[in-house]
Amino acid sequence: MSALEQNIEKLNRHLARFAEAGILHRIAGADHAGGGGIFETQSPVDKSTICQVARGDAGDIDKAAKAAKAVFPAWRDMPAKQRKAILIKIAEGIEARAEEIALCECWDTGQAWRFMSKAAIRGAENFHYFADQVEAARDGQHLQSATLMNITTRVPIGPVGVITPWNTPFMLSTWKIAPALAAGCTVVHKPAEASPLTARLLVEIAEEAGLPPGVLNMVQGYGEDAGKALTEHPDIKAIAFVGESRTGSMITKQGADTLKRTHFELGGKNPVIVFEDADFERALDAVIFMIYSINGERCTSSSRLLVHENIKEAFEARLIERVNAIKVGHPLDPATEIGPLISAEHFAKVTSYFDIATQDGAKVAAGGEVLGDTGYFIRPTLFTGAHNAMRIAQEEIFGPVLTSISFASEEEALQIANDTPYGLTAYLWTNDLTRALRFTDKLEAGMIWVNSENVRHLPTPFGGVKASGIGRDGGDWSFEFYMEQKHIGFATGAHKISRLGV
Ligand code: NAD
Repeated sequence: MSALEQNIEKLNRHLARFAEAGILHRIAGADHAGGGGIFETQSPVDKSTICQVARGDAGDIDKAAKAAKAVFPAWRDMPAKQRKAILIKIAEGIEARAEEIALCECWDTGQAWRFMSKAAIRGAENFHYFADQVEAARDGQHLQSATLMNITTRVPIGPVGVITPWNTPFMLSTWKIAPALAAGCTVVHKPAEASPLTARLLVEIAEEAGLPPGVLNMVQGYGEDAGKALTEHPDIKAIAFVGESRTGSMITKQGADTLKRTHFELGGKNPVIVFEDADFERALDAVIFMIYSINGERCTSSSRLLVHENIKEAFEARLIERVNAIKVGHPLDPATEIGPLISAEHFAKVTSYFDIATQDGAKVAAGGEVLGDTGYFIRPTLFTGAHNAMRIAQEEIFGPVLTSISFASEEEALQIANDTPYGLTAYLWTNDLTRALRFTDKLEAGMIWVNSENVRHLPTPFGGVKASGIGRDGGDWSFEFYMEQKHIGFATGAHKISRLGV
């Protein structure tokens, strides 16, 4: 039996329970069918129905928010050591079920096994990392003044809402939920409607690990009803959101009446700038990896290649060769590098850029074609001869589609790199150290890698500038979002108090 056949067999065993019972909400440790009806989720591999999913509405969100509010004091006040032990058990539970999570994620999203098997393990790492921070999360400062001993402490903000997208949904959920729980917050999670499976596995694993009922609640459903209701609920104190920039704007408006604290990780149109002095082969590998891995459905993908005109021809020639050799196929085949796009709607969006590119005067140098009609497969695509004003250089396509633009000088490269509404990541390839220092200082991006692809290190700040986000994740930055600073001043003597009315 081939590795693909083995994976399919295992997947079918895991899917049986979803097909039989569907996916219900999980509120206060119990299953709820909810009041909003159901929707069907399909696999992008062959458009088959995976299962029925409860479609959450405002009533379901209200129940979940009330459950999160009811257990918040107990979770907040549980001794840190005990909370830490539960988070470690969740990490271990994820490790134990990593294969199941990855198989379901591949089938639900179309992402390739080679990436999703690692993403599941990264989910466990997120819990391990934040478990280690639990005991120090409340620590504050001592800021002595002449008359007062001032201390600060941090307290969890309260029940929070976590709204996640469909690309690597399991890993992204843990990235938000692990620090929220470590801070002492309780959570209502609203996963993306396009990828509902693994959110259910996460809440099960968390409860089996001993997380008290109601600390993590999960309501499935659409953004316009369940998502919107969560952002408007008065008991929810903050919303951690990962998704599109325009959804972030909507959430800002929706949360205004309840003065919601928000943290946004949004879209990107990230440049990778390759100078002629760069290590050609390593730059080539990184350029390919950062746009064609994870189906290009990756916020940090380098979707704009800015290449120096002196090496453009050679670089693009090698790119075309390699892009044409990328293996598109069944996501559960370990050899597959690109699987199908997530949905009919997203497939229509991504493929629309094939025509937009040629209408705007760019060239389709590789790909630009759909593959069969059983699922949402396309060939990895490269547009050349582009300039930065074209739609293919300005809009987030969110697929395995790269736009190549040449530049003549460092000034021009910087101007093009920054000429976008987004500012999530940037990647710079040069062996000139002084240029790297100068250039990175002027790049408008929240995260920059020099002579490297994106390598996530959890203590570092993750987030974007401009339309790519507000706030940072990682290390202590996560706690700054999920917690409130509190200042307490103790008089150290009988300092003079201004007397009025005497
Ligand atoms: P999306 O904004 O359409 O949906 C994200 C989530 O928001 C879903 O759960 C959806 O149901 C919900 N939602 C939609 N409308 C809502 C509303 N009015 N109120 C509340 N919730 C609402 O995004 P998507 O298409 O699922 O994901 C792709 C996007 O996510 C891309 O733009 C990508 O760049 C971005 N993303 C960013 C990061 C990052 O770290 N910056 C990471 C991953 C993905």
